Amino acid sequence: MIRKLLHRAAKVFRPASARPSSSNTVATIPQSRHGIRRELISPGAIRTCEALQRAGHKAYVVGGAVRDLIAGLHPKDFDIATDATPEEVRALFRRSRIIGRRFQIVHVMQGGETLEVSTFRAAHDTDTQKDEHGRVLRDNVWGSQAEDAARRDFTVNALYYDPSNETVLDYHHGVADIQQKTLRMIGEPRTRYREDPVRMLRAVRLAAKLGLEIEPAARTPIREMASLLENIPAARIFDEMLKLLFSGQAIKCLERLRAEGLHHGLLPLLDVILEQPDGARFITLALANTDQRIHAGKPTSPGFLFATLLWKEVLTAWERDKTGDALPIPALYDAMDKVLEQQADTLAITRRITGDIKEIWALQPRFEKRTGKSALRLLEQPRFRAAYDFLLLRAQSGEIPMELADWWTTFQDVDTEQRLAMLLPDTHKKKKRRRSSRSRGSKADETKLAQAAPAEPDQ
Ligand code: ATP
Ligand code: MG
Repeated sequence: MIRKLLHRAAKVFRPASARPSSSNTVATIPQSRHGIRRELISPGAIRTCEALQRAGHKAYVVGGAVRDLIAGLHPKDFDIATDATPEEVRALFRRSRIIGRRFQIVHVMQGGETLEVSTFRAAHDTDTQKDEHGRVLRDNVWGSQAEDAARRDFTVNALYYDPSNETVLDYHHGVADIQQKTLRMIGEPRTRYREDPVRMLRAVRLAAKLGLEIEPAARTPIREMASLLENIPAARIFDEMLKLLFSGQAIKCLERLRAEGLHHGLLPLLDVILEQPDGARFITLALANTDQRIHAGKPTSPGFLFATLLWKEVLTAWERDKTGDALPIPALYDAMDKVLEQQADTLAITRRITGDIKEIWALQPRFEKRTGKSALRLLEQPRFRAAYDFLLLRAQSGEIPMELADWWTTFQDVDTEQRLAMLLPDTHKKKKRRRSSRSRGSKADETKLAQAAPAEPDQ
């Protein structure tokens, strides 16, 4: 045991010559060929690279940001790769902290930005800790830059941009692959998927986002290896699903997930939902809406999107439980809990997001009350905007009459006097009494919900 530990400690600083060989040929691509404009790199990323380089280290903007800039897209974040160890990086930046266990990195805060700084990783060898399916469990052995490049998933991601001289170091012909619109795996695809099955989801997402073709050698094994995703922790799948749904190409991503046979077990009910004609329409509308918001630079919320993805299931469960003695509102709460529980095993939706989802769902029946104070009170709900956007989708998909959504569109726009004039008369006394006791029940539940989940800015 002790020998094993000593061996592992020594390995962290193994000289490159002792490690399995990897491609050392690297092309230096000048600005005129890669076309990246320096002013599009975030100031925090440039400052971080410069500080590391001043301290005598290598430092580059790496991965997705370089790839996106060459492809003409705006990167959503900037990652840095360096030969400095996490402790060395930590010592250089006052506002920084080491995070992660399986894959240690340093978060460096620069102004309002957080940069992820990772140390060059060594190639895997027989000592690499893996599970019984070949999945790499720990990954904190430092290596050379060439090894780090070989460890990345796709050629288009193994690119290193040096802000000091504006060149790109390209180890695996990634620049040519971006230009030729090919997503190519570095190394043997089956081995790389076994090491980390999430790469299958990344392949689909990156291909959809950048309009690339997955090369056949990397595409063919996906269908047969899809079940390996079952061994991935739910939280990691959830992160990847978020990236996919908020890539700005959510519809394309989901279509490709289906085409590659990868959608089973991600959202356990996604395949069922997509096969229901009205469900598909609702979800397509919601995803198109999210894609548009992302392209327009507007904020989006995971709670809203997951609320739409799961709504048809809630409706089905609610309809089922509504019969018998159960009152509609408690039955809705039961349905909501059931649907969320079903998802929980595979998809670790965080508690905060679950709170948002429930709030949006719980407000839906209240849109049907267009009488008295209840309509006015609904307008004041912190989550009114998101719940109203959700109502619009329901109307656009044909689930509820458009007239109801239109009424609310006008109601929130006009002044108080006009609002009072719009309220429908409360006709039936008996009905009114029953309604008010129901709404008391639902309000108590909603208060509970509001306390459970602090409201986020609306969509
Ligand atoms: P985006 O940020 O647009 O979602 P990305 O490719 O930058 O895409 P990140 O998760 O930010 O994705 O990863 C940064 C880089 O780390 C990638 O470009 C790639 O080089 C490497 N990388 C990420 N995940 C993996 C993986 N599962 N296997 C190998 N390399 C990976
Ligand atoms: Mg990235």
